[in-house]
This record gives sequence, C-alpha cells and structure tokens, in this order.
Amino acid sequence: MSKPIVAVVGRPNVGKSTLFNCLCGQQISIVKDTPGVTRDRIYAEVTWLDKSFTLIDTGGIEPDSKDIILSQMREQAQIAIDTADVIVFMTDVKQGLVDSDAKVADMLRRSHKPVVLCVNKVDNFDKLMPDVYEFYNLGIGDPMPISAISKLGLGDLLDEVIKHFPEDADTEEEDDRPKIAVIGKPNVGKSSLINKLMGKNRVIVSNIAGTTRDAIDTVIKYNKKDYVFIDTAGLRRKSKIKEELERFSIIRTVAAVERCDVAILVIDATEGVTEQDAKIAGIAHERGKGVIIAVNKWDAIEKNDKTIYEFTNKIKDTLSFMPYAEIMFISALTGQRLAKIYELVDEIIDHQTMRIPTGVLNEILTEAVAMKQPPSDKGKRLKIYYMTQVSVKPPTFVMFVNDKELTHFSYTRYIENKIRESFGFRGTPVRFINRERK
Ligand code: GDP
Ligand code: GDP
Repeated sequence: MSKPIVAVVGRPNVGKSTLFNCLCGQQISIVKDTPGVTRDRIYAEVTWLDKSFTLIDTGGIEPDSKDIILSQMREQAQIAIDTADVIVFMTDVKQGLVDSDAKVADMLRRSHKPVVLCVNKVDNFDKLMPDVYEFYNLGIGDPMPISAISKLGLGDLLDEVIKHFPEDADTEEEDDRPKIAVIGKPNVGKSSLINKLMGKNRVIVSNIAGTTRDAIDTVIKYNKKDYVFIDTAGLRRKSKIKEELERFSIIRTVAAVERCDVAILVIDATEGVTEQDAKIAGIAHERGKGVIIAVNKWDAIEKNDKTIYEFTNKIKDTLSFMPYAEIMFISALTGQRLAKIYELVDEIIDHQTMRIPTGVLNEILTEAVAMKQPPSDKGKRLKIYYMTQVSVKPPTFVMFVNDKELTHFSYTRYIENKIRESFGFRGTPVRFINRERK
C-alpha cells in the first residue's frame, strides 16, 4: 500500500532539518547494509498514531543572495506540489513574515494541495503567540506554532497533517494493474527503455543529463494486459548545482517508488555499477518493493563468455543488501530481452503477494532449527516458538521468541534463506519481526 508523502517547504534556516531530525530521530530505521540512504536525510519514514507516511525535506542548500532564495523556494514548492499529498509550509517567528513567504504561499494556495502552515521557533508560547498571528496574512489557514528545538506543538502539527490524508487509502488500490517504477541515474537509458517498450517515440530522449520531462505514467499493453510505468527520468528543473539536482532526483525517485509494485533499476553497462546506483537501489529496498536490476546498453560493450558472470558478481557485491533482486541484461536501443521484463514483473508480483500457511512455515522452521542451532548468549539460547506470515508486499513474518535480545540478524538471514529455498520470493525483499512470547 502506498504511503502518503508529506513535504516540508520553507526558507533556509527556518528549522526544516531540525524538525525533520526530531520527527525521525528515533523512528528512522538504520538499515546498516544499505549504503548512503539513511545518512542523508532527504526523506524518512514517520509514524504518528496509527498513520505512517514518508516525510521529505525539499530544502537542501542555502544560497546567500535574496533572489536565489526565492527561486529556490519556488522550485522546492513545485517539487512538493508535484510529489506530496500534504505540504508543510514552515516559517520562522523570529524572522517574521518575509516577502518570499507570501509569494510561495500564493503558489501553494493555487495548487489546491493541502497545506499546513507552521511557525517555528515559538520557544515560549505565552510570550511569542502574538507574533504568530501575523502569519494569518499568508491566507493559507491557521498558523500552527511549534518549537522544533524544544519539541513543542509537534503533536498538534502532526494531528493536522494526518487529517489531510486520503480517507480511504485502499480506494486507489482498486487499480490492480502492475505498477513499475523505472529508476536510475541520469543517462542510463530510462526514457529510452520506456520509449522502446511503447514502440512509439512519444517521450523525448536526449543525451544531456536531466533534460527530459517530468515523471508521468505510461500505460503499456502487453499480451492484452496493462502495465503502468512510472517514469522518473524527467527533471524539469535544470539546476546547475549538482547537490540540488541530486536531491530533486532522489525525491522524485522516492515518490515514484512509493507508488510502484516493482522498481526497475536501470544501470549503464558502459559505466558499470556504482555507489550512486546502490543509493538509488536502497530506496526501493527500504520500501520493501520488488526489484529488477536491468543492465542496459548491453549492445554497447564488448563481451565474451565471462562478461555476464563478472557483471553479475559486481552487482551482487555492490548491491549486497538485495541478493533477492532479479538481474537482466538488456538494450533499450535494440530491444534485446525487453519482453522478458513483463514476465519478470508478473512473477515478482506473484511472489510478493504470496501467503505461506503457518503450518508449512513452521515445518521449515523446525527443520532449519534442527540443522543449525539458534544463537545463545551468556548460557541462554534463543528459542523460536513459531512463526507466521502477517502481511504481503513485502512478505512479512513474525517470529515468536523467548528473548528478543538473543536474536541475531545472521540467524534471521539463515531462516530467510531457508524460506526462500522453498518458496523463492523472487525479486522481493522479505521482512521479519521478532516478538517475545512469555
Ligand atoms: P533549515 O535550513 O530550514 O533546515 O534550518 P535548520 O534546521 O538548519 O535550523 C536553522 C537554525 O535554526 C539552527 O541554528 C537551529 O538550531 C535553529 N532552530 C531550529 N528550530 C528552532 C527552534 O524551534 N527554536 C529556536 N530558537 N531555534 C531553532
Ligand atoms: P535517462 O536519462 O536515463 O532517461 O537516459 P536516456 O534514455 O535519455 O538515454 C541516455 C543516452 O543513452 C541516450 O543518448 C540514449 O540514446 C543512450 N541509450 C539508451 N539506451 C541505450 C542502449 O540500450 N544502448 C545504447 N548504445 N545507448 C543507449
């Protein structure tokens, strides 16, 4: 199920990162073997009450000149309008109402997206409240006072944010067409791939990085079945600043991946697999999405009988956190093996929605435990009483254990492998939750 996206927009120094960090401070899951993804906190998962959402910080760098600030804010706001379900517009009671705030507020208002106006640095509600009223002038609703540093007003802010979430997140799930996000660095051939699959040249392809249009969905029929491709190639913003471009493309990728069943990570065979590929792959992995790694431009490299093998090993090595990913070698130029994408997508979706009966699961568990003892610590051994699958997409298993402290990821990985030996779960991550049973 796709989670709502909440974007934070606001001038430099109003406190966006501070808010971001305190909202995700504890909840951010450090996936140790996912490189890069959790270190730069452009996005993070937040849970408030019974609602989970993805929080995006649209603001990154801080230009010094006033007119750059305004144009940067407009870009941020546009990104938020394009990708978010709810926008938090952040202002600063200490700096007061600034001209650029009003201009951005106009833009947000015209977008008809839900906007929550928040006024930060209200460290003392009694004393500073009168200054907050000024922000009513923005005409985008009631200003919510907060202090990100002192963690004041955050509950009220979050209450207001989640009020705007779609009532029934399930209604959009009625659409059971496979959704495929095509992700990857600029210039790896994402647009070319979608073009070739479409068979018509409806998408602009260019060899200048970041010049194609914004993400749109493309529906492609194959064997009388519809497949929805979510393309992230487009980057309308032609920022000259590399960090900014990268931030925008990560935000886009997060938004596209959030909506997909399967992500196709396109890699450029002529460049090999890089850390940046790993970072993008991590977005799909963290979200529990199915993954196909498509090594593109396979036509353009010299090959012998070992090339595929060597390439596969390099991918397994660089993307070691997703051993489940399906790897294929394609050419968007010649169309080589492209038809296989549909088969693979269907197969991965079957696997990510598969439910294993508890009885069968526990037969595997009993056998696995008999073959390899669970870890122990200070004379106490981990006992796994039983396990059961609690959800799909990604398949998630709860293991009932005697003591959570005794669990170890390497043993969980072992159990995971045993389950995969029997059922595959091809192309999809699986998750384990340990629960103590007294
Ligand atoms: P960003 O540029 O919008 O991400 O802003 P930062 O989160 O980096 O914050 C800018 C400055 O404002 C930092 O020095 C923060 O410590 C400070 N700041 C953030 N939140 C508060 C707050 O609630 N009260 C006060 N007094 N200062 C804050
Ligand atoms: P995007 O930025 O990921 O959407 O990449 P594009 O689709 O715009 O492709 C970038 C460049 O790579 C263009 O010059 C394409 O013609 C070229 N390209 C894309 N796919 C292939 C391929 O399979 N083989 C070769 N040789 N070139 C390709």
